[in-house]
Amino acid sequence: MRYPIKTLTSYVANQIAAGEVIERPASIVNELIANSLDAQATQINIYIEAGGIEGIKIQDNGIGILKEELDLALRRHTTSKIWNIEDIENIRTLGFRGEALASISAASRVLMCSRTEQDDHGWQIISEPGKSNHIEPKPVAHPIGTTIEISELFHNMPARRRFLRQANTEFAYIHTLVKCLILNYHTIAFQLHHNGDLKSQYLPEKTRSQRIISIFGKQFGNTAIALERIHHDLHITGWISPPNIVQTKTSVQYFYVNGRFIKDKIFNQAIKHAYKDVSYQNRQPTVILLLEIDPAHVDVNVHPTKAEVRFHRPGAIYNFIYKALEEALAHHRAPSMKALLPQDIPQQRQLFPVQDNQSLEVESIHVIQSGHNTAPGEPTSSTGQMLSQPIENTPTEVNQLTLEHMPKLPTLGYALAQLHQTYILTESQAGLIIIDAHAAHERILYEQLKIEYQKNQLQTQALLVPVTFSITAEEHEAVKTQGQLIQSLGFQYDLSISETLTIHAVPHLLNFNALTELIPALLNDLTIQENSHQVEAHINRLLGTVACRQAIHANRKLSVCEMNHLLRLMENTERSNHCNHGRPTWHLITMEKLDKLFCRGR
Ligand code: ADP
Ligand code: MG
Repeated sequence: MRYPIKTLTSYVANQIAAGEVIERPASIVNELIANSLDAQATQINIYIEAGGIEGIKIQDNGIGILKEELDLALRRHTTSKIWNIEDIENIRTLGFRGEALASISAASRVLMCSRTEQDDHGWQIISEPGKSNHIEPKPVAHPIGTTIEISELFHNMPARRRFLRQANTEFAYIHTLVKCLILNYHTIAFQLHHNGDLKSQYLPEKTRSQRIISIFGKQFGNTAIALERIHHDLHITGWISPPNIVQTKTSVQYFYVNGRFIKDKIFNQAIKHAYKDVSYQNRQPTVILLLEIDPAHVDVNVHPTKAEVRFHRPGAIYNFIYKALEEALAHHRAPSMKALLPQDIPQQRQLFPVQDNQSLEVESIHVIQSGHNTAPGEPTSSTGQMLSQPIENTPTEVNQLTLEHMPKLPTLGYALAQLHQTYILTESQAGLIIIDAHAAHERILYEQLKIEYQKNQLQTQALLVPVTFSITAEEHEAVKTQGQLIQSLGFQYDLSISETLTIHAVPHLLNFNALTELIPALLNDLTIQENSHQVEAHINRLLGTVACRQAIHANRKLSVCEMNHLLRLMENTERSNHCNHGRPTWHLITMEKLDKLFCRGR
């Protein structure tokens, strides 16, 4: 079967063309705003009814359209923006195809009012959907500029109308589109209304950064990395998410080529590639990139809605964009790191992982259970006891410290590993922290003992089998003269004449296995006490000796849970920067330092 070839009526041709250009209300808004921008408007007001399904009105203060050109503007292939095909090569306007108004009027009723500088009043034309008869403009009151009102959208195209979504969804498309368009025109004021309500208002801004903040909010503005790169005729500027604030959802990625908002795979791929090294998989950074390129090196006439462009040298563009992103990411340093400096205490409070009594208690229980698997009251192994003791006994004390004293550290981060069963390695926001587990634990125990001692709360636990030590005459004398002090530390003992010391009970915090080391050390301390004025210092030294002997020693393997618990205790312990002997408990190797070590330009 062969049908004769015939010329389509302009109505059918226009409907087909309209189908390509006008997909949904947002497409109309896109074209009309583009026209207002091309007409050098400085104020553009957008009024949407029911997601644009019931009505779209765009008002601008641009150069306007002459009376005799109003009807012409609605015809297909009529434009003031190009004359020759070469003009497209140097195109600086958003429009040039001369199709938008024709397509819009093919799919809807159009009311257009306009007034140029040379008119005393405005002129209006009304075009019925799909009708292409000549329309004679009528005079109306109108300020300089153009107002276009669209109604009865797709009334003559039921198939297209059926594809429309809910009004709110259609409005969401419009809202997103408006954001994309206005981003590049920061000096222009925009208002977006929906169903009579002002939804967004963007005032003219001095810089594009300010407009970006007004669109994406201060949080993005404060954290975004600004980038710029120039190479021959290529110039890119952009604002991108730092690697640590990359979102999981598909997020905003806006690309512009010579001010035209476009979709482009080259940009997408360059972003993916650049972020690959610095962020987790499937995480989407927010990226706004504006590329300026010699118009001769890009073809903008490849898509009916000009949503895509074709670069003459796509490989070079890809490399250029990738390099710009990669460099910006590499040089980026999170500003939040500054908040981790020890003196910045208010910030630390925010960062501190255990913030209230409840959560601390929960953490304590968790550590005991996961760390040692012992039932309450059941004896623990000596190693388990070391950490479980402060955990079991600290919640009230530690909570008080949390409330009364600011931690003196930056947060110590989270344990990564234990090095040679001696040092805990942690990852903190500021970098790598190395903690001497013994020194840190010693300080924690010491501070805890001091508090208990001051409150006269040092509890004693009786030994099932008393332990006897042989002592020197000198030590014998020291124990005799300082008996009260020794008892106040939680020891109960018998001192025989035959130079033996029998211990019956020890401070409850004491690990039994440490006793054989502790007592000689304690006796040594007792004998070198100089005078009674130094009682407090002496007591502290004795407590320090208890803490030192008691603390985790090198060659003791810690679980991640135990390590993290120790870190949290450190954060809550006064003077935890140094052990009782003045040795530092931790060292921070900042990211800057690490980068320097590896000659890495962050
Ligand atoms: P194009 O923008 O591709 O030229 P359009 O169909 O969108 O084609 O518009 C046709 C012409 O109408 C434009 O070239 C322009 O001269 C004129 N025009 C459209 N909208 C406006 C406006 N808001 N202000 C001034 N002139 C306009
Ligand atoms: Mg146009």
